[in-house]
Amino acid sequence: MENQIDTQMEQRKGRRLVLFPLPFQGHINPMLLLATILHSKGFSITIIHTNFNSPNPSNFPNFTFHSIPDGFSESEASSKDVVFLAKLLNTKCVEPFRDCMVKLLSDVSEEPISCLISDAFFYFSQAVADSLKLPRVVLRTGGLSSFVVFVAFPLLRERGYLPIQDSQLEEPVAELPPLKVKDLPVIDNVDPDSYYEIIAGMVNESKASAGIIWNSFEELEQSELNTLRQEFPNPIFPIGPFHKYHLTSSSSSLLAQDQSSISWLDKQAPKSVIYASFGSLAALNEAQFLEIAWGLANSNQPFLWVVRPGLVRGSEWLEPLPSGFLETLNGRAHIIKWAPQLEVLAHPAVGAFWTHNGWNSTLESICEGVPMICMPCFTDQMVNAKYVSQVWKVGLQLENGSDRLMIERCIRRLMVEKEGEEIRDRISKLKDKAKFCLQQGGSSLQNLDSLVSHISKLES
Ligand code: UDP
Repeated sequence: MENQIDTQMEQRKGRRLVLFPLPFQGHINPMLLLATILHSKGFSITIIHTNFNSPNPSNFPNFTFHSIPDGFSESEASSKDVVFLAKLLNTKCVEPFRDCMVKLLSDVSEEPISCLISDAFFYFSQAVADSLKLPRVVLRTGGLSSFVVFVAFPLLRERGYLPIQDSQLEEPVAELPPLKVKDLPVIDNVDPDSYYEIIAGMVNESKASAGIIWNSFEELEQSELNTLRQEFPNPIFPIGPFHKYHLTSSSSSLLAQDQSSISWLDKQAPKSVIYASFGSLAALNEAQFLEIAWGLANSNQPFLWVVRPGLVRGSEWLEPLPSGFLETLNGRAHIIKWAPQLEVLAHPAVGAFWTHNGWNSTLESICEGVPMICMPCFTDQMVNAKYVSQVWKVGLQLENGSDRLMIERCIRRLMVEKEGEEIRDRISKLKDKAKFCLQQGGSSLQNLDSLVSHISKLES
C-alpha cells in the first residue's frame, strides 16, 4: 500500500499546478489552503497573484509566486465597491495573466503544468486557458447553497424576483425554499447590471471548466450538491473544510492578527464570550455600529470585538464610541483590529460568534461547534445566514436594522435560554460531521482522491 502511494507521488512529481486566487481575504485563505493540500499530494505549486492585496510569499517557501500588475490606479485600489473591483480585475488582468501563463508554459526548465486552478470569480481566465489549451479547474470559495441561487439568477430575473422590490422582501421564493426575497444574494447600492454580469461570468465559466472544487462537505450541503451534479456537466469536488486537514499551513492573513485576543480569552469563563467580527469587506454606518456596541455592552456577556479599520464608514477606527465606553465595562470587553480567527473560534471561552456569515467564517464556526448570531450584509452572506438559522438551525438571525434591545434579546436567547442549548447541541453534531468527513473513508477525503486522479488525467 505504502509503496503504491510512493509510486503515485513519484509519478505526480513533474506535475505542476498553477493557482490563481482572487485578491480578497476570503478568497486568498481558501486558495492557499487548497495549495497546501494539493502540495501534500505531491503536486508542485505555482501561485499567480496580483500586486493588489498580494499574499506574503515568504510565508510559503514551498510554493513559487509570480506577481502580475493589476493596473489599478490609486483611487481604484482604494474603492470599496467589490462589484466594480471584480469587473476591473476581469478586464485589467487579462493581458498580464496571459503573458505570465505563456512564460510559465514555455519554460522547459520547469515541470509541465497539469492545469490552472482559478478562483471562480476570475472568470476571464477560462478563455485564456482555452486559448492556451490548458485545462482550467475552478475553486468556488463560497458554499454550494448560495451557488445554486446564483445559477438561478436568470430564472429569478425572468420571474420578477430580481431586482428586489422593497414591497416583496417578505415573500417566499417558491423555487428556492426556504429563501424569502430578502435572502437573495444581492448587494445594495451597486449597479445591478454589472452585478448580474459578474455573477453570470462566474457561473457560466465555472460550468465551462474542467471541474469545480468546493470548500464544503457533502453532509452539510447534500441536496444542493445533488442539484448541481444534475445541472452541471463537469465534476464537482466538495473537499472541505480545508483548514481542518491537519497540515502545517502558514497564515495568509493580509492584516496582522492581534494575539492579545488569546491572552484575554484565557482569562474568561468557558463558553461565556461573544466573538463579534464582520470579515474583511463588510462596512457599517455609525448608527448601526453604535447599536451593536450598546447591544453587546447591555448583554452583560464578555465580548471580543474585531473592529477592522474602515469597518465604520467615515471613521478611522473607534472614534464613534462614546468616551469612556470601554472603561465602564471593567475588562468585560476587548476590541482589536484583526483577530487570529481560527484560534479564537477554537478557544474554550468562546460561546457564540456574531458574524456577517462570509462562507469562511460560517464554516470555521461550524467546525468549532460555535453557534452563530447572523448579521449578513450582502451577496452570498444572505443565503448562508438563512441556512445557518433555518436549515441547519445552528444560529439566530438578527433582522436587518435591529436596535440595541433586539440585539440584547438575541444574545440572551442564544447564551442563556433553552433555545440556545438546543442550538449548541445541533452545532456540536454538525461539528462531528465536519470532523468525520476528513477521517479515513470520509466523504471529503474520497472526493480529494477523485480530484487528484481527475487532475492527473487532464491533458494540457
Ligand atoms: N479573519 C481573520 N481575522 C479576523 C476576521 C476574519 O483571520 O479578525 C479571516 C477568517 O478566518 C476568514 C476570512 O478572514 O478565513 C474572512 O472570510 P469570510 O469568507 O468569512 O468573509 P469576507 O472577509 O470574505 O467577507
